[in-house]
Amino acid sequence: MTDLRDDVLDTFAEVFGRQADGLWSAPGRVNLIGEHTDYNEGFVLPLAINRRTIAAVAVRDDTRARIGSSFADELVEIDLAEVHPESLGGWAAYPLGVAWALGRHGADLAAVPGFDILIDSTVPVGAGLSSSAALESSVAVALNDIWQLGLTPAELASVGQLAENVAVGAPTGIMDQSASLLGRRDSAVFLDCRSLDAEIVPLGFEAAGLELLVIDTGVSHAHATGGYAARRASCEAGARALGVSSLRDVGVDDLPRAREVLDDETFRRVRHVVTENQRVLDTVRALRELGPASIGDLLDASHRSMRDDFEISVPELDLAVETAQNSGAVGARMTGGGFGGSAIALVPSAHVSRVLVSIDGAFAEHGFAQPDMFTVTAADGAAREK
Ligand code: ADP
Ligand code: MG
Repeated sequence: MTDLRDDVLDTFAEVFGRQADGLWSAPGRVNLIGEHTDYNEGFVLPLAINRRTIAAVAVRDDTRARIGSSFADELVEIDLAEVHPESLGGWAAYPLGVAWALGRHGADLAAVPGFDILIDSTVPVGAGLSSSAALESSVAVALNDIWQLGLTPAELASVGQLAENVAVGAPTGIMDQSASLLGRRDSAVFLDCRSLDAEIVPLGFEAAGLELLVIDTGVSHAHATGGYAARRASCEAGARALGVSSLRDVGVDDLPRAREVLDDETFRRVRHVVTENQRVLDTVRALRELGPASIGDLLDASHRSMRDDFEISVPELDLAVETAQNSGAVGARMTGGGFGGSAIALVPSAHVSRVLVSIDGAFAEHGFAQPDMFTVTAADGAAREK
């Protein structure tokens, strides 16, 4: 991390021919539990992780915006007056979309100074760790500071979501940006997606001798867009048939009646969301009252619900989860939107190497490409570094 910060400052000086004014960073995230609950106005429990996107920034004395990334070959340059969703495309739509969205949250884009930004990151792209929210949040905290806007982290999360929804065109919820901006070391962010109330919940993994392992299957979310839209539509249809504005208003006790009203597939989609909301609440209570070793069954049940009721898992994710469970993990589940991406496993430190070897072996046996596996810790949210 220290090295990367120095590298980014050096590269900034090379690329832009002057020193940066400061360095801001924002983490990627893992969702511990609460999948496909966000757009149903339910509960989620993500954590910010120790992989970050860094933005080195200098103010300009004109209204140009120039932005580069170690991931991209060329600089993108635009006048702030021209920054609006239709003029943005490619990767630069994320950071410049944030500048535009700040304009919708009170920044006067005709009066603020331009900027040069250089981005680097240790958050892998497309692995389900939300490199997009890390990028948006790093730029949001930087511009909030240099433009002296005084927006809160929760407001900056809405800015990032607006950028992603409108400038990028991805219909995502507010979970990722909330985790990246509100996260705390060794803690998760318990977010109510209806009220947007957020509470910090201590995890205590390290004190309990547990590691959080990410297993990136490398399976791409090729069907994710269609599958995601179809699941959202099922949830909306279920809510309509049950006479509620969102599935947040359906409780576990309402499921017997829901089974009579809904067709089998819609019922199973609804049951996932309803029971997943309850599992998030149960996980928060278990973390507070019993400690992290007690949440394994909830993680396992979440995976079964996504596999059997919501049907968003793939064989690689099922194999990773099952192998982790059978080789010493306390609990395991796929994480993220599904149809590929990553699984997580909560593993006693003493069993981590056994879990790694077992998953490698199982993937080889099934002829699946080797997954990328690494442990993560819960980290602080977006902040100024220098
Ligand atoms: P993820 O699950 O990682 O968030 P997304 O598809 O939502 O995947 O976002 C990935 C996209 O975000 C990349 O294709 C790229 O456009 C942009 N992005 C993320 N990190 C960076 C970075 N460090 N530099 C440039 N673009 C980035
Ligand atoms: Mg993303």
